[in-house]
Amino acid sequence: MKAIEVKNLTKSYGNFKAVDELSFEVYKGEIFGFLGPNGAGKTTTILSMLGLIIPDKGTIKILGNDVFREPIKVKEKIGFLPENATLYEELTAWRNLEFFANFYSFSKQEKEKRIKELLKLVGLWEARYRKVKAFSKGMKQRLLLAQALINDPEVLILDEPTSGLDPEGAYLVKSIVREERKKGKTVFFSSHILSEVEELSDRVGIIVKGKLRALGTLEEIKKEF
Ligand code: ADP
Ligand code: ADP
Repeated sequence: MKAIEVKNLTKSYGNFKAVDELSFEVYKGEIFGFLGPNGAGKTTTILSMLGLIIPDKGTIKILGNDVFREPIKVKEKIGFLPENATLYEELTAWRNLEFFANFYSFSKQEKEKRIKELLKLVGLWEARYRKVKAFSKGMKQRLLLAQALINDPEVLILDEPTSGLDPEGAYLVKSIVREERKKGKTVFFSSHILSEVEELSDRVGIIVKGKLRALGTLEEIKKEF
């Protein structure tokens, strides 16, 4: 089964086509990099994948479920990190995660176990009782990543996850993404930085002006050009 299937996705804002007949598939257990310059249509594609934008045309399935027809099933299986996401600055790292965990049907014990695991995974265990407002941008992004992982999702969707981070911060985020793949999870991430997509992805889709320009492993894509 495919992790993500996008077919003929088309979305206009007014008479401007932001995404134009986009089709691609993401396989289970891979890291898929969605590369394109600013304004290419990456976020529009991602928000459609989450069922948050209704496209003009096209179908999207995540793990076999139609995102528009079966939104609840899809929501249980995905974790999402939006671009420029924010946290509760006045709360501790622990409380920020707890707030999100409360949307799921964890018992108190399960919840605490999960929060503990995640804080350790993202390297914020020591900082768990510090208020987020004292965190660096990299620490905040790692906490946001933990938040996206709260329900142990099969498919992780990250919109520009390393944007604005220093090299160390970006390195740590990439390490966490690789850890998730090791557990068999599927990761879809967008970026406008070629080197990053090159470094992290098993396969790549390149989007320019709403259209898919290339799809495959980097080796395959390089041969084409
Ligand atoms: P990316 O994530 O690759 O930067 P987006 O999907 O955010 O691209 O945007 C694609 C294009 O659509 C851009 O030109 C952007 O200005 C435009 N756009 C995005 N959202 C809207 C909107 N709600 N209304 C009008 N235009 C939009
Ligand atoms: P652990 O033993 O796993 O380090 P605790 O059992 O001490 O964690 O903490 C569990 C709960 O108690 C959490 O909900 C946490 O928010 C709260 N808590 C414990 N100590 C503190 C503290 N110093 N500041 C804020 N919250 C705390």
